[in-house]
Amino acid sequence: MREILHIQGGQCGNQIGSKFWEVICDEHGVDPTGQYKGDGSSSDLQLERINVYYNEASGGRYVPRAVLMDLEPGTMDSIRSGPYGQIFRPDNFVFGQSGAGNNWAKGHYTEGAELIDAVLDVVRKEAENCDCLQGFQVCHSLGGGTGSGMGTLLISKIREEYPDRMMLTFSVFPSPKVSDTVVEPYNATLSVHQLVENADECMVLDNEALYDICFRTLKLSTPSFGDLNHLISATMSGVTCCLRFPGQLNSDLRKLAVNLIPFPRLHFFMVGFAPLTSRGSQQYISLTVPELTQQMWDSKNMMCAADPRHGRYLTASAMFRGKMSTKEVDEQMINVQNKNSSYFVEWIPNNVKSSVCDIPPTGLKMASTFIGNSTSIQEMFRRVSEQFTAMFRRKAFLHWYTGEGMDEMEFTEAESNMNDLVAEYQQYQDATADDEGEYEEGEEEAYEG
Ligand code: GDP
Repeated sequence: MREILHIQGGQCGNQIGSKFWEVICDEHGVDPTGQYKGDGSSSDLQLERINVYYNEASGGRYVPRAVLMDLEPGTMDSIRSGPYGQIFRPDNFVFGQSGAGNNWAKGHYTEGAELIDAVLDVVRKEAENCDCLQGFQVCHSLGGGTGSGMGTLLISKIREEYPDRMMLTFSVFPSPKVSDTVVEPYNATLSVHQLVENADECMVLDNEALYDICFRTLKLSTPSFGDLNHLISATMSGVTCCLRFPGQLNSDLRKLAVNLIPFPRLHFFMVGFAPLTSRGSQQYISLTVPELTQQMWDSKNMMCAADPRHGRYLTASAMFRGKMSTKEVDEQMINVQNKNSSYFVEWIPNNVKSSVCDIPPTGLKMASTFIGNSTSIQEMFRRVSEQFTAMFRRKAFLHWYTGEGMDEMEFTEAESNMNDLVAEYQQYQDATADDEGEYEEGEEEAYEG
């Protein structure tokens, strides 16, 4: 068995993490007490790889292999008293009382650093229980203090202790459209600096795009976090589907990374989902394979505010779910690539993979999830970088961070690391099959539009 250890931190991380468990419990037939209820017809599929995410406790109960952490008790209290609150192992709730006040430095260097050993103890205990741990997945936001600062501290500690295990993150990027604090670009940039070095693969969940999907496509006039998180949990379920159910493609974290990451720093993925639904509305939606394929590639369905048509795909992978013809899926996918060949780098042949999983998400007959490594993701990094630089030039709000002992130099380094990342995406966007790996000036025009 190749187990995954799930960790959720901070308010956002705990909220999206617990939604994720609700959704996958449902898909695997596990009820809120951890009992397998199943639905007969698909029981083998539901149970075959259930150990990837669940421990089996006495009495045949399934317990999420999950660690929950926060610097204040509020969010975790409400999870504990929520519908699936009893399914988690009580010892795996680790929390403080101080809060991080949306300050990355508090999460990473002061308050969070005090609590980190307690979290690592629980992580170690879970890891020791595993037959053959494949890696970790961390849910967090990058705009606050705990998920962001303490989350990336934990990631670096885990990397130190388990250097050969995979680290996957579900990282929520901040957007002024849904957030209330001005320092979020600081927290996000300091986090990206860490994720570039210490994470293997990052699924980008951009609040800016999630808000736009809710507002424009789902016609919700004032989207709440609950609405955004509904999109996130559907996406997380789709992304992990190939890890949780039997199949060939991307069946573990390392295979996923091998297929999608041609250069180690470029491991930030755009994810798309189809059909998009709002809470409670899914049963009315039914799509054909061509419609699913078309929507899944559409920039309007991407959980990241960047337009794939402004860049090129290095690699991509698609997972279709439900009963459908594999032949039709293959044809449709080939069709998209042939019609849009200029949007795929020609120097990685066969860079798009797809597969079909029989079990659809609850409430839908068919769905599809898309994971793309697109150079256009630089648009999102540029957005955060501009917001960061506007404040940092004047050293606005810096005293909150230096007051926790941080050096201004770390801000400068984080800023240039993210700018380098943007430049690397641009370099591979411009690269052609016959320029021998050298970046040539003046080629941008050829790929625009
Ligand atoms: P922490 O508890 O210190 O980690 O802080 P938060 O998780 O509240 O981080 C604030 C950032 O997360 C802001 O960018 C918020 O917009 C975002 N955020 C907070 N809660 C949620 C949530 O439930 N869903 C989503 N999508 N974003 C959230």
